[in-house]
Amino acid sequence: MPTKTKFIVVTGGVLSGLGKGITTASIGHLLGSKLRIVPIKCDGYLNTDPGTMNPIEHGEVFVLDDGGEVDMDFGHYERFIGVNCKFEWNLTMGKVYQAILDRERRGDFLGKTVQLIPHVTDEIKSRFLHIAEIERADICLVEIGGTVGDMENELYLEAVRQLAHELGKQNTLFVHVTYVPFPQNVREQKSKPTQQSVKLLNERGIFPDVIIGRSESPLDPSIKAKIAGFCNVPAEAVISGVDVDTVYEVPLIYDEDGLTEILHKNLGIYSPPKFTVWRKLVDKIKHPSREVNIAICGKYTQLRDSYASIIEALIHAGAENDARVNISWIETTAIEDRKITAEKALEGIHGVIVPGGFGTRGIEGKIEVIRHCRENAVPLLGICYGMQLAVVEFARNVCKIESAGTAEVVEDGGECEAQVVCYLPGQGNIDRKGGTMRLGGQDVLLKAGSRAEKLYGTTKIRERFRHRYEVNPDFVEQLEAEGLIFSGTTPDGSIMQVLELAEHPFFFGTQYHPELVSRLERPAPLFRELVRKALEGAE
Ligand code: GLN
Repeated sequence: MPTKTKFIVVTGGVLSGLGKGITTASIGHLLGSKLRIVPIKCDGYLNTDPGTMNPIEHGEVFVLDDGGEVDMDFGHYERFIGVNCKFEWNLTMGKVYQAILDRERRGDFLGKTVQLIPHVTDEIKSRFLHIAEIERADICLVEIGGTVGDMENELYLEAVRQLAHELGKQNTLFVHVTYVPFPQNVREQKSKPTQQSVKLLNERGIFPDVIIGRSESPLDPSIKAKIAGFCNVPAEAVISGVDVDTVYEVPLIYDEDGLTEILHKNLGIYSPPKFTVWRKLVDKIKHPSREVNIAICGKYTQLRDSYASIIEALIHAGAENDARVNISWIETTAIEDRKITAEKALEGIHGVIVPGGFGTRGIEGKIEVIRHCRENAVPLLGICYGMQLAVVEFARNVCKIESAGTAEVVEDGGECEAQVVCYLPGQGNIDRKGGTMRLGGQDVLLKAGSRAEKLYGTTKIRERFRHRYEVNPDFVEQLEAEGLIFSGTTPDGSIMQVLELAEHPFFFGTQYHPELVSRLERPAPLFRELVRKALEGAE
């Protein structure tokens, strides 16, 4: 199978949560200056994609421009590598099995027993090679989900083992991310967990070329030598993955510890990283001169990963504004249940985000938060559901449509007379939940002369969506008559996509998710302005 693409495979050992996604993204960052890097993530679960999973269970569902709902690691890939990823680059066991079962029913395997090996492993390999080819990738950066030894990822490991054998040493490189603990009682770094997880890989016929040891402090030369000796790698291929203040520092510390060089050497490539702007921004994140408090008011606040891209977008906006953004998490169910008032919950807060969400639990709390922000000049960005609820709040309290609500309440078994937020056309009778929302990148037309236009500096933008409901077109005139400005719509004007208020320091709602396209070097304009306005209030 001839391919010019080289493959870097990243596996994880010892425990989950070591930041394998950030490591993979960082490797992409290190090599991306001259080479076309295509990240591929392999997940072991049987869902076709994470779109149907609860964010508390799985973390944020990242939405790609092509409409794919993918693992949140794709957020890291896009932010660190600067590529626009595709749905196809997220393999799940669900997708792989489905393709095989479809082919089996079609009769493609007639006469054969369809087996995990070779059929599933062949399917995985052919997907890798297909992506490599159509993307003309210089490097496919394959991240295998989970930890070596997990049953559900075995077939991916077997597939990459075979692939490495077929493509040859000079075209494949294995990076293993492990954990090097520093137990308090012995007060020295320990290599045994790394040795054991490398053994697990070896049993599967995989011999890592680079080992990244995640640890609290830099790896001691003696522990590097020990890992090198026991795991069959040169000492310079054992890299310190020391804990850092901000994930954006990770490419920098890997580079300093020689990772770029070893990747170049092993793969026979040359693509030195360009850090100038990145380094400056990292420095701003680490040493800001100001601070501001922003609240995220939602119902998935137990798991920060549910709002991963929002957190990142705030970091980007903070760096640009030379400010540390302290995030407060406000559980809107508590406001809804009258355990605390919105006013009390927002004490000391300079800016508010009401993020996207689903279902009806906690929404009355969100509406209260929005009311407080509108009436008290607190900067507010409502995202997706947050925008829809800003419309509900405005309809109730300004337009005096007391029964105003969203059709989502009815979907949940409740009642709502004046549906100022209704189903998007064609969404009302969908019974298949997976991949059926209005998804992905869409053009947004900004009204000339609006604040939105000023902030974006253009009237035509492209943003990413994930929703079933929209502002009810029948109410738009009435809402606008009372002062709500719909400053962004679909190019044909049919779907309201941005709202703003004139007499307010910053009151914005977006039907799209601006956080998904925010980058450290190019913060989302609305996040940038939210933080700027919040800072004005803080000073
Ligand atoms: N639940 C709302 C809808 O489907 C909002 C979705 C979201 O916030 N992503 O339209």
